[in-house]
Amino acid sequence: MARRATETLPDARGHFGPFGGRFVPETLMAPLEELERAYRRARADRRFARALVALLRDFAGRPTPLYFATRLTQHLGGPRIYLKREDLLHTGAHKINNCLGQGLLAARMGKSRLIAETGAGQHGVATATVAAHLGLRCTVYMGEEDMARQRLNVVRMQMLGAEVVPVAAGSRTLKDAINEAMRDWVTNVEDTHYLLGSVCGPHPYPMLVRNFQAIIGRETRRQILRAEKRLPDYLVACVGGGSNAIGLFYEFLPEPAVKLIGVEAGGRGAALGEHAARLARRARARRDGARPGVLHGTYTYVLQNRHGQIATTHSVSAGLDYPAVGPEHAYLFESGRAEYTAVSDEEALEAARLLAVQEGIIPALEPAHALAELIKRAPRMNKKDIVVLNLSGRGDKDMDILAEHRALKR
Ligand SMILES: *Cc1c(COP(=O)(O)O)cnc(C)c1O
Repeated sequence: MARRATETLPDARGHFGPFGGRFVPETLMAPLEELERAYRRARADRRFARALVALLRDFAGRPTPLYFATRLTQHLGGPRIYLKREDLLHTGAHKINNCLGQGLLAARMGKSRLIAETGAGQHGVATATVAAHLGLRCTVYMGEEDMARQRLNVVRMQMLGAEVVPVAAGSRTLKDAINEAMRDWVTNVEDTHYLLGSVCGPHPYPMLVRNFQAIIGRETRRQILRAEKRLPDYLVACVGGGSNAIGLFYEFLPEPAVKLIGVEAGGRGAALGEHAARLARRARARRDGARPGVLHGTYTYVLQNRHGQIATTHSVSAGLDYPAVGPEHAYLFESGRAEYTAVSDEEALEAARLLAVQEGIIPALEPAHALAELIKRAPRMNKKDIVVLNLSGRGDKDMDILAEHRALKR
């Protein structure tokens, strides 16, 4: 938790270059400022750091292994591939890192209730888990459409004692659930912390969530130096809101030799509504597509039509299916420090199958996107290159989709 000497962004007002900031109604300004102050105090407090380290280790299962994928490396015949095994964490993905951090912070602020939004239910489950562990009440907002699609996660959250509130507005998915969660927060800010799930939303969330996820990259640096005696050439991660990717990248931002690749959901086509590629498929001015704009309190790249209406999105992977991207990624994209690409549903499904049979690891469909990009690039890479791929979560939640895909293949 020590403050990094190199941390320069965001600036005091939450900006990453032109991106980020705090575009919220007046009623949310005070709670966001309170949260920022509480976070800065917690960060300077060794007891907070010790409590978080202990929870990450004993409850979540950190450090996660950095695993050399021998057979995948041989199979692809290109670079040396390491997998950062966030899939082995409690609740099955990296999201628990952020939830434990914010949960401890909320308890420290004297809040007795956590609220969250969730798409596929993964962030809802991680939040409900942390709430139960810390003895806090928990309400999770979830689109009706998503509740039907992700029945198992709804039951999990309920089992953990959380109340799951169906959201019937709009497209009845994540975007609408976020609006409802913000509304709840405004009304109940006295006793409630809004536990945002990715590096999105108004300042300080993109900074807060990044710093709680940055442990991924800090461990990776230590582990790769031990294994290879040098830094990796490439880091590859999928980008939904962008928290697992920035969590891996952040430690390496000051290392120009380490190339950073973020992979978005290319879905089933290039037309607006068929994908969730905000950076890889930028629109020309006044066309349908991704352009800078404001969504959920932050200024960043947003998928929208030519009139500025937020677009619907599609991805086989619910965790990547969001029309905006974290503002720090918009900044890394424009500055050229990181590169962003997109792969299709089909390519991600194929990549998941390959990892399963080559390594005995069934990945979530989100990191399967990162793997699909690596599979495409491997032939053009050097055999001595070292790649670290962030395996952000496991595939249990996606078994229905994977089974359907297999059946169609026969
Ligand atoms: C939620 C999720 C993601 C996408 O969120 P980011 O904030 O972009 O990391 C990626 N992988 C898994 C396994 C997830 O559950």
